Amino acid sequence: MHASQPVSLLTEIVQHPYRPPEGFEALIPPVHKASTVVFPNVAAMRERQWQDKSSYTYGLHGTPTTFILEERLATLEGGSHTLLCPSGLAAIALVDLALLQPGQRLALPDNAYGPSKEFARGWLRRWGVEAVVYDPLNLESAKSALQQCSLFWVEAPGSVTMEFPDLGGLVGLARQHGVPVALDNTWGAGLAFQPFALGGPAGEEWGVDVSIHALTKYPSGGGDVLMGSVVTRDRRLHERLMHTHMVMGLGVGANDVEAVLRGLPSMVLRYEAQDRAARELAHWLSGQAGVARVLHPALPDAPGHAHWARHCSRAAGLFSVLFDPSFEPAAIDRFVDSLKRFRIGYSWGGAVSLAVPYRLSSMRELPPAWEGHLVRLAIGLEAVEDLKADLEQALHGLNGKGGQG
Ligand SMILES: *Cc1c(COP(=O)(O)O)cnc(C)c1O
Repeated sequence: MHASQPVSLLTEIVQHPYRPPEGFEALIPPVHKASTVVFPNVAAMRERQWQDKSSYTYGLHGTPTTFILEERLATLEGGSHTLLCPSGLAAIALVDLALLQPGQRLALPDNAYGPSKEFARGWLRRWGVEAVVYDPLNLESAKSALQQCSLFWVEAPGSVTMEFPDLGGLVGLARQHGVPVALDNTWGAGLAFQPFALGGPAGEEWGVDVSIHALTKYPSGGGDVLMGSVVTRDRRLHERLMHTHMVMGLGVGANDVEAVLRGLPSMVLRYEAQDRAARELAHWLSGQAGVARVLHPALPDAPGHAHWARHCSRAAGLFSVLFDPSFEPAAIDRFVDSLKRFRIGYSWGGAVSLAVPYRLSSMRELPPAWEGHLVRLAIGLEAVEDLKADLEQALHGLNGKGGQG
């Protein structure tokens, strides 16, 4: 083709010759959008490897935008390699599918993120993988779950009931059994503790092998993006995960990556602000009528508090309120309905405070340590006094003092 050869307007607007000047630099990483990546010639196309982050082959295998987020997340969690997935749950499923095969067994804490348990118990079984559940506060229970185990999941603290396990002890046990450890690090977010350098009880350099993170929560911070990450320190392990990631086609959209990149710089400040507000509300709630117990790992009577205190200084802005067992479940639902500032909805880590009632009996396989009904509160970025006033009026209603019915 000659440059001088006349082309129709149609072609010219599709393949326009103008190139902007090079050297544009801005503060925010560029948003590169592509399925197709073009090559200068066939030889270059044949030469490039999709696994190799020194160049680009196809949108699914990475763009400058996704590479930038991957590097920042590896730094955040203290790892070396990151894979991005369309949701936190997809990141969990990826780890299970990449590291397990038929005839093998995985172990999960009884308080693991619900859909993760459902994937393991209800779905992996169809593929000949058996799931066993252990009590996260009992090392003996973990030890027996580690028999013939090929993947050991930990979560700190557990979902909804917020028990903080002896992370160092669990990782040490898994090491003794030669079983790789995967952590759901959504709560810690890379800010509460260092998943790859936990330290054992005698100061050993222990860490998990894989850390997944629902970026949907704190890194996004907006309640408007779904994304997950899988971070590792080990190149070989990363490659196993990367291959499964590739064949399953787990791509993420550039605009969603942009939103997470935008949320990351303010994440520490948001995390700390929500931590402060949540602790203030948790302390206050634990003294209120009708409240049996507040489950927040930083409260001295919280299950696993000593483990939290050893591993963490920060905490996510998330806790659960266990109501007096004399309340009917419907009364607890009405309590949640009567909240005005707290909205009813799943997820957390965003600016708006959220409340969700849970029925413990339907969530746990091992007998729960408590009776009663739980409401999980995710603290947003509103003024604490307004959130307290809202909880106060709803508690008055629950205790039959406010005419809330
Ligand atoms: C939200 C969450 C997930 C799943 O993340 P999604 O992006 O919603 O799929 C996994 N683990 C924990 C602990 C979570 O809170």
